[in-house]
Amino acid sequence: MSIPAPTTPTLRDILADADARHVSVGHFNISELAALNGIFAGARALDLPLLIGVSEGEREFIGVRTAVAIVKSMREEYAYPIFLNADHTHSLEKAVEAAKAGFDEIIFDNSSLPMEENIKNTKEAVAAIRAIDPSIVIEGEIGYIDMNSEVMDAAPEGIARSSPEDAVRFCAETGVDVLAPAVGNMHGLLRTMVAGIAHKEIDIARIGAIKAAIVAQTGTKWMTLHGGSGTEDKLFTDAARAGMTIIHVSSELRLAWRRGVEQGLKEKPEEIAPYKILPPAVEGIEKIVTDRLKLFNGMQ
Ligand SMILES: [Zn+2]
Repeated sequence: MSIPAPTTPTLRDILADADARHVSVGHFNISELAALNGIFAGARALDLPLLIGVSEGEREFIGVRTAVAIVKSMREEYAYPIFLNADHTHSLEKAVEAAKAGFDEIIFDNSSLPMEENIKNTKEAVAAIRAIDPSIVIEGEIGYIDMNSEVMDAAPEGIARSSPEDAVRFCAETGVDVLAPAVGNMHGLLRTMVAGIAHKEIDIARIGAIKAAIVAQTGTKWMTLHGGSGTEDKLFTDAARAGMTIIHVSSELRLAWRRGVEQGLKEKPEEIAPYKILPPAVEGIEKIVTDRLKLFNGMQ
């Protein structure tokens, strides 16, 4: 009798488990390998599952199929639950491209459009993605929370908050696996947040109300908190407990990457080998990932 090879759980298994335990899976964006190495080290230190995100711009820079090949090879080599998400995919064409390339999750984001159009387009994307690979986890978004993971002077105009009624309607009509609602979150960071003198206000009661409504009235069970950077520590744990299954952090990692590169260049002004310059960026990212994952899992 042969011993079966160890199998890594699927992303659906990971999300179901996180949901049952009221913790959140960490989702972190990359543009290149130094960030991936830092994120992976941070998650492995805690032995926690991991979602790697690449936006349309990030995956164009890395290569759509290259991103899939890298994450898949890490999953196999380390027998580790690391998965890849096509973050904020705005067109059907890009969603189909990601599905064919073998992404584990695709976020179809038409949240900047009116609700009617968002529902219509998301429904169409869900059908197209399921036809290519029904195992792909599909996320849809409602409510505007701005587009950019950048550092800004002031909050952009028009940031919305989603209602449980809109959430139920959107999930029921589109059939998405995961809902990203607007609950006081926002992409990017304000300068006051970078300085540590302000934090994002996440509406925990609204998370609970939306979660209860969609679970009771639709087939959608999972939810994602976008724009996690700059959130007060305690609110991460509260958001996970209230029903967020995935939490995204990107801008903080971009900031750590830039600071780390600047430090590496300053410490070694004559060095030209990137792998000798980049370690401070890797270490800075690793620290943030470990800190955030502890909060998402109520470990602090
Ligand atoms: Zn996002």
